[in-house]
Amino acid sequence: MEKGNLSKSSKCVHAGNMQDEKYKGVNSPIYTSTAYSYIDVPELMYPRNFNTPNQEVLIKKLCALENAQAGLVLGSGMAAISATILGLLKPGDHGVFQGDIYGGAYSFITNVLPQYNIEYTLTDGLAVEDFKKAIRPNTKIIYIETPSNPLLKIVDVAAIAKLAKSINALTVIDNTFATPVNQTPIDFGIDVVVHSGTKYFGGHSDLMSGAVLASKDIVHEVHKIAVNFGANMNALSCYLLERSLKTLALRVKQQSANALSLARFLSTSDKVSKVYYPGLESHEGHTIAKEQMQAFGAVVSFELNGNIEDADSFVRKLNIITPAMSLGGVESTITSPARSSHGRMSKEERAKSGISDSLLRLSVGIEDIDDLINDIKQALKD
Ligand SMILES: *Cc1c(COP(=O)(O)O)cnc(C)c1O
Repeated sequence: MEKGNLSKSSKCVHAGNMQDEKYKGVNSPIYTSTAYSYIDVPELMYPRNFNTPNQEVLIKKLCALENAQAGLVLGSGMAAISATILGLLKPGDHGVFQGDIYGGAYSFITNVLPQYNIEYTLTDGLAVEDFKKAIRPNTKIIYIETPSNPLLKIVDVAAIAKLAKSINALTVIDNTFATPVNQTPIDFGIDVVVHSGTKYFGGHSDLMSGAVLASKDIVHEVHKIAVNFGANMNALSCYLLERSLKTLALRVKQQSANALSLARFLSTSDKVSKVYYPGLESHEGHTIAKEQMQAFGAVVSFELNGNIEDADSFVRKLNIITPAMSLGGVESTITSPARSSHGRMSKEERAKSGISDSLLRLSVGIEDIDDLINDIKQALKD
């Protein structure tokens, strides 16, 4: 069977799987060894070298999904992000980073890069002009994340790739929110795709992982750092992730469809003052999102009329939507950025970032859409 031209759903199921030569079972065998022979082998196998059989399955599957040449799977999204940034930036280099970025990545950039004498600029906005303004003669990478967290802002992926090429810099995108089901940035000229596999890849809120997908040369540079810092996955977690990835397209398609319906429903409620979802025509990034995404992802943020206590009491009234941090699971979860991810900022700082007290971020699951709408309806009632 020619597996190269399969659709995303079929790649999720089939790409990269290991044949069970011995017993002809349909699933990849699990090889748990951390000790492999050094006699007559082309390369030394070791989990921290990112080259054991169950790691290879994941790398092949994710390469097929992201249209990448090579990759690494790691123990968390931050392991993937930190190894990528340190692999591509050396002392004296400069990186341009999207200002509105995942909190862990922000913390890594601002706390760790100065220790390595690596310079950085966080952009003021998400327009191509904002990235252009941040470029310096020693800029080596431009790093983006779209849709962004928690306001689902959209960055023009092709335009950023073009800008970076004009100055010979590499581009990195955090594709966690979109997943390769909804967005394949390498097709738009992006060089490196990073993921928190803890979210949609795992999809069941029980497994941490991360991934880097890029050309062989780039992955080689990231690998040099990753080998030294560790943060590999073991075979059993690899197998769990392989199992999850088989349903990635199925889950994300259902979650994205549910999210669009919920965003539309929320827009009609007089209890809701604003809805952030790139699938809505009213969203400022909608036109670009339509060009670069298949569907618009499964995170919807919205503001309630009222204050932080009103948001709290709305969340407490929900029955099937669960208050929880993180996102991407089969179950719908909801979080208050002011109470969680942005809780350490002052109210003024939050306001500057567009995070109001009554903002809620909803990670939409695979439940029946009518049940989700009914749950929100009853919680919105006085
Ligand atoms: C969660 C998340 C990360 C970090 O991933 P971990 O697996 O928690 O290390 C990075 N980027 C985005 C967009 C995320 O949502």
